[in-house]
Amino acid sequence: MNILVTGGAGFIGSHLCERLIRDGHTVTAVDNFITGSRRNVASLAGNPRFTLIEANIIDGLDHAGPLDAVMNLASPASPVGYLDNPIETMLVGSHGVRNALELARRNGARFLQASTSEVYGDPLEHPQKESYWGNVSCTGVRSVYDEAKRFAEALTMAYHRKHGLRTRIIRIFNTYGPRMDLNDGRVVPNFVKQAATNQPLTIYGDGSATRSFTYVSDLVEGMWRLLMSDEPMPVNVGNPREMTMTQFADAVILAAGSECRSKAVYVQPQNERIADDPQRRRPDITRARQILGWEPRVALEDGLRETLTYFRSVLN
Ligand code: UDP
Repeated sequence: MNILVTGGAGFIGSHLCERLIRDGHTVTAVDNFITGSRRNVASLAGNPRFTLIEANIIDGLDHAGPLDAVMNLASPASPVGYLDNPIETMLVGSHGVRNALELARRNGARFLQASTSEVYGDPLEHPQKESYWGNVSCTGVRSVYDEAKRFAEALTMAYHRKHGLRTRIIRIFNTYGPRMDLNDGRVVPNFVKQAATNQPLTIYGDGSATRSFTYVSDLVEGMWRLLMSDEPMPVNVGNPREMTMTQFADAVILAAGSECRSKAVYVQPQNERIADDPQRRRPDITRARQILGWEPRVALEDGLRETLTYFRSVLN
């Protein structure tokens, strides 16, 4: 297939491009490097089936030649990334999504929109099923991401209903693995970097907030299965193993091995960084199991070891 991946030089996008190339597809990655980097796709440079284009999809999106699928991953995605780029985040989630949808429509291509567990906000229902409408502030600091992604889902459904476009919506839960941005402020890069350098692991607040972490290869498998399915309604893809940030800090220290001298500390970060921080998050993956036959395969302990190996290599 000829596949265009926006955000193709980001953390998840680069793993997706690698997987698609490995499976024999021809891939065009589009990225403006606001949070992605050329280094993420360095292993694909020179491959005749891979093209990397520097462009901002807010300004428009075109492609010479036929396309079978457009996979729209372009957006800052970490809280630091979208708090630092609030307007770009809203525009890429609106104008950018429209441009990607139009490209798919012109080509009669399948379209996959990368959505997020953030559409559930600070959820009042637990675990989160796709039928839950969410608990989102439309003016809070996270609103630029949450509302853009909610708008993106609505626009995707509008193209499906109005134009019969073969659209898919994947709700991605916290994902980790090699090539996460060391400095994007998320809990995985922060803890892994801290453990790899014998620094204290900084748990925000009282450490009782929960998350469920998916290894990136599991996510990419779910993305591919959803793209090739016939399912237009949103599907959660995430690992249902839920843990508190205190438990997660312990897991990272354990994975770092006996030479790690780090301990967890409780800190109060700047208010903006934790405002509206969802207190609990765990996907209900019944639909992914039923529709895609998908479930996560990589255990947290194994995924963390891979991630630590990567972080150690870039820190040295
Ligand atoms: N967090 C933490 N220490 C850090 C960074 C984040 O305890 O150094 C917490 C954060 O407050 C939240 C959870 O880890 O409860 C996940 O935050 P992250 O920024 O990774 O992403 P989110 O899931 O909120 O999008």
